[in-house]
Amino acid sequence: MITLEQSTHLPCEYKYPVHSYSFVISMYSRLFRLPSTTRRTFHTLSALNMPANHRKVTIIGSGPAGHTAAIYLARANLEPTMFEGMMANGFAPGGQLTTTTDVENFPGFPEGVLGGELMDKLRAQSERFGTEIITETISKVDLSSRPFKLWREGNEEESEPTDTSDALVFSTGASAKRMFLPGEDKYWQNGISACAVCDGAVPIFRKKPLAVIGGGDSAAEEAIYLTKYASHVYVLVRRDQLRASKVMADRLLKHPKVTVLFNTQATSTHGDGSLLNALTIKSTISGEETKLDVNGLFYAIGHEPATALVKGQIELDNEGYILTQPGSSLTSIEGFFAAGDVQDKRYRQAITSAGSGCMAALDAERWLSEHEATE
Ligand SMILES: Cc1cc2nc3c(=O)[nH]c(=O)nc-3n(C[C@H](O)[C@H](O)[C@H](O)COP(=O)(O)OP(=O)(O)OC[C@H]3O[C@@H](n4cnc5c(N)ncnc54)[C@H](O)[C@@H]3O)c2cc1C
Repeated sequence: MITLEQSTHLPCEYKYPVHSYSFVISMYSRLFRLPSTTRRTFHTLSALNMPANHRKVTIIGSGPAGHTAAIYLARANLEPTMFEGMMANGFAPGGQLTTTTDVENFPGFPEGVLGGELMDKLRAQSERFGTEIITETISKVDLSSRPFKLWREGNEEESEPTDTSDALVFSTGASAKRMFLPGEDKYWQNGISACAVCDGAVPIFRKKPLAVIGGGDSAAEEAIYLTKYASHVYVLVRRDQLRASKVMADRLLKHPKVTVLFNTQATSTHGDGSLLNALTIKSTISGEETKLDVNGLFYAIGHEPATALVKGQIELDNEGYILTQPGSSLTSIEGFFAAGDVQDKRYRQAITSAGSGCMAALDAERWLSEHEATE
């Protein structure tokens, strides 16, 4: 493999591991000035032999964290490549915000901005400074040695990786757990949400009865947050007690605008065709079903960080989030930096993801320069 130090002295097209066909072809094409069509043919042929494209820094994931990292890395002339994914983890390139309409709390947009539009702008900004964006999903990584090895989807059975990278920014995001109740597809984002902080202030929820599903600390926090806007908040708890800490549970149970319905689960959602207006709820003891008139349903049953790719290779916490050193994006593996929801179970906001993307880029930049100095 070409070393990090060697790679920094080569022009961009030559940054392949020296054993790969692409490296050899690139060198020959340049040296002997082969016509570009011939070079393209060579590249197509070499693709069949799985050349590993080597890069200094690669970003996996294309939400606010990944794009902010890309902007910083590209402006630092590190020529980052981003794998933005192809419906990776169930999300289109751009991530979770592509599944929502108005984002009202991202600074700089006093009138709010559509989630998809915000992500288009971030993508354009990443490209403006030279980020190479590849619309493919990384389906396998080997972090056991550097350069890190990456396989694009469809190539995971091959022994040779498709790509290698000295540093990685991992920003694959997370997804909220949902119950997919009957009617949910119709009313998702039209009365059903998984983020009280994101959506609680939206007019359709103001002064309306709302429901929260969940019995842990997050559910208690979300329910108490929603009392600012709602006429009343029902918390549906499947068991006969809350999992939340005693302090949070006490706050919830004492709140005048909250009713906790124990031994209760939602079984279906109803609405007027455009907005949610009721749930069917069922007693887990008697099985009896009743209707609960609510204009909002908020899931607070946990999130799934997108860490399957690195599980067993890097330190994760007991819920599967990547562990970072406090106040940084540094992980248990040198040269591997984590940003966004994949390492944050507390805030999970677009702006905090973007902030941690900036941290990852600066950490990666520092690490690469220190590494170059010592190699
Ligand atoms: C419906 C909804 C509404 C929201 N509203 C707001 C709001 O109003 N305000 C706010 O601040 N926050 C909001 N959030 C939260 C916000 O969207 C997230 O905190 C933020 O998007 C997290 O950013 P991220 O960069 O960590 O990753 P994500 O946005 O989760 O994006 C990760 C991306 O990486 C891609 N990816 C994953 N694995 C791979 C792989 N192996 N290879 C390549 N690509 C991969 C995924 O496909 C995805 O596109 C909302 C979330 C949801 C679901």
